[in-house]
Amino acid sequence: MSKQEISAVGKLKEIELKISKARNRIVGYDDDDPISPTLICVSKNFSADDVAPVLKAGHRVFGENRVQEAQSKWPALKQQYNNVILHLIGPLQTNKVRDAIRLFDVIESVDREKLAKKLRAEMDLAGKDLPCFVQVNIGQEEQKAGIAPEQAIEFVKKCQNEYGLNIVGLMCIPPFNEAPGPYFAMLAGLAQKANVRYLSMGMSKDYEVAIMMGATHVRIGTALFGKRDA
Ligand SMILES: *Cc1c(COP(=O)(O)O)cnc(C)c1O
Repeated sequence: MSKQEISAVGKLKEIELKISKARNRIVGYDDDDPISPTLICVSKNFSADDVAPVLKAGHRVFGENRVQEAQSKWPALKQQYNNVILHLIGPLQTNKVRDAIRLFDVIESVDREKLAKKLRAEMDLAGKDLPCFVQVNIGQEEQKAGIAPEQAIEFVKKCQNEYGLNIVGLMCIPPFNEAPGPYFAMLAGLAQKANVRYLSMGMSKDYEVAIMMGATHVRIGTALFGKRDA
């Protein structure tokens, strides 16, 4: 094994341990209802060669934020390794929906009606019904994707009732320079009101906080693969 391989696999084990420790710090944690947050390894900006050791170590859940980049590495990797579950975690343009649903297994970035409609149409054509998350712009930041928090519940209902999408949860990226805890708590509250089960929240620097706030999916890139080249 190369140095790079040892490093990514070692970090995978470290992160898995931290996830299980954070889970056990959940307030009111109930042993009869165990929650195991899913680690989504975010492989954007890293090559198939960088990702392979993590797959070889048995990990199967990955995230990419661009359709085109994902197309350049994942078809081959998915052929080589069984049961990969690939999450699209970045903004999705309607003209990329067809390609996206061909390659991805979960769409985390549903954030507008036009996209919901297109997803429905293309999934019908492809005979698929992928699990989706609604992305919420939890800090109401101008530059970020996501539906506004005050519209989130209604939007979830619309996706379900009007477009028949299988909305399984909510996803967010809190403001970069603020304490994330209150934003994670806000997303958890919205998910409860919208009656959806999963919460995709928490990245390299804040996943332990996110888990304590109820994250069911954490999306981790840097802490696993190292810093991305800009
Ligand atoms: C890049 C990215 C991540 C991973 O971020 P890290 O800080 O590298 O762990 C998570 N979620 C989304 C939506 C991303 O684009």
